[in-house]
Amino acid sequence: MYYKSTRNSGIKVSSADAITRGISEDGGLFVPESIPKISLDEIKYFSGLNYSCRAAYIFKKFLTDFTDEEIRYCTDNAYSEKNFETANIAEIAELFEGTYMLELWHGPTCAFKDMALQILPYFLTVSAKKINLDKKIIILVATSGDTGKAALEGFKDVEGTQILVFYPEDGVSPMQKRQMTTQLGSNVGVCAVKGNFDDCQNGVKAIFTDKAVHEKMDAAGLMFSSANSINWGRLVPQIVYYISSYASLAESGRIELGEDINIVVPTGNFGNILAAYYAKQMGLPINKLICASNVNKVLTDFIETGIYDRNRRFYATCSPSMDILISSNLERLLYLLTGHDDAQIREWFEELAKNGRYEVTDAVKAELKKEFYAGYCDDVQTKETIKEIYDKYSYTCDTHTAVAVKVYEDYKKATGDTTKTLIASTASPFKFSASVLEAIDGAKSELDEYDMVERLAELSKLPVPSALADLKDRERRFADSIEKSEMNAYVLKDFGLE
Ligand SMILES: *Cc1c(COP(=O)(O)O)cnc(C)c1O
Repeated sequence: MYYKSTRNSGIKVSSADAITRGISEDGGLFVPESIPKISLDEIKYFSGLNYSCRAAYIFKKFLTDFTDEEIRYCTDNAYSEKNFETANIAEIAELFEGTYMLELWHGPTCAFKDMALQILPYFLTVSAKKINLDKKIIILVATSGDTGKAALEGFKDVEGTQILVFYPEDGVSPMQKRQMTTQLGSNVGVCAVKGNFDDCQNGVKAIFTDKAVHEKMDAAGLMFSSANSINWGRLVPQIVYYISSYASLAESGRIELGEDINIVVPTGNFGNILAAYYAKQMGLPINKLICASNVNKVLTDFIETGIYDRNRRFYATCSPSMDILISSNLERLLYLLTGHDDAQIREWFEELAKNGRYEVTDAVKAELKKEFYAGYCDDVQTKETIKEIYDKYSYTCDTHTAVAVKVYEDYKKATGDTTKTLIASTASPFKFSASVLEAIDGAKSELDEYDMVERLAELSKLPVPSALADLKDRERRFADSIEKSEMNAYVLKDFGLE
């Protein structure tokens, strides 16, 4: 199977190529030329398989240029109890009858990004070998918190790779800063930038496109790649957990094999919910895909009106990983909904770059409404929801997941739909202890980060994830802090290219 660019269907590459390049040179995203199918029999067959085997089975359908051995090498390294705190990799918890939480945060950084970033380094190194790229892969990341840490954990000590993460000095939480500056591994680097997230992001983009840097890298046998969710290698692992969890629900008799379910996803860059849409296109019985946003509700408005408009105020919320006004992966959905109309996609995304806005056709609007329901909630409602489900169901969820629960409640009220539903739970509540405690206790906590974690453990009766518990005694390894104008020089020095 080949991969095409969303902005030029004439560009066709192998999956190994798509994964090493990250993004197409025309600015488009790589998408499979057709979507492979999965039958109910195949889903039934998953019953006897562990997560790693299920993942390998699905990857074979998409990464047709990989051998079975190569795929198993990737899945066995990524999805083991060495990296995840549960043998099931993802867990399903019943919130109440017919409504299930798909807990995607039992990995090393306690957020769902581990599900993809644990395997991406293996996909990348195998892909590079396949296409005879005898180069060391350099990953540069600008992060506002979660992605940087997940990428560091994923690439840590992976042979043939090196990773450097830039974060805004005062723009991440104390826990996130600690997670990154104490990172272990011989091929990792972390550096604070005196600026905001945009400064970090712009600095990284400028380095990516700097010709002089590229020439020096090339001469030294190094190449850049991307760990961002525009990379197909980050999207395809996310399809797996929707199919796998459906198989588990059917296996345990909580649903009938073939029964439709709804899927609710707290959404930012549209990667996670797009993976659920791909699963549906493959044949997974899904009724509605419910897209939940915080007050940065550009997607809610888009799904309701067909007008994408990023010209609006940006809000910092208590669900920061969803504070996004440009949802990159929407481009892949629109490519599918227009029947692979690359010219149309080019036009819309040129408009977005120029005016920050575009409007889709009536046909696409109708399709959006048919497949998706969209809603949003604010920080007050998010915290009320955490408290409500804590009191009612003794279940403790993080701020992002709470947005999904609230929007699902609104959906049920609006439609009366009683279809069984799976809600993607994207982070451990311990990762956002301050907000979760405030929601449950009704007041801002005066405790420090670690005491908050302890207090939350008492209230939730959940064990503190070992990855967070360990941090307290870890030594800080990375203390560099630079001006944004110094990023380029820092990269050259870090990779020995001066
Ligand atoms: C990244 C993230 C999201 C948003 O996921 P997208 O794939 O960008 O839509 C939601 N919740 C958490 C905790 C995240 O880290």
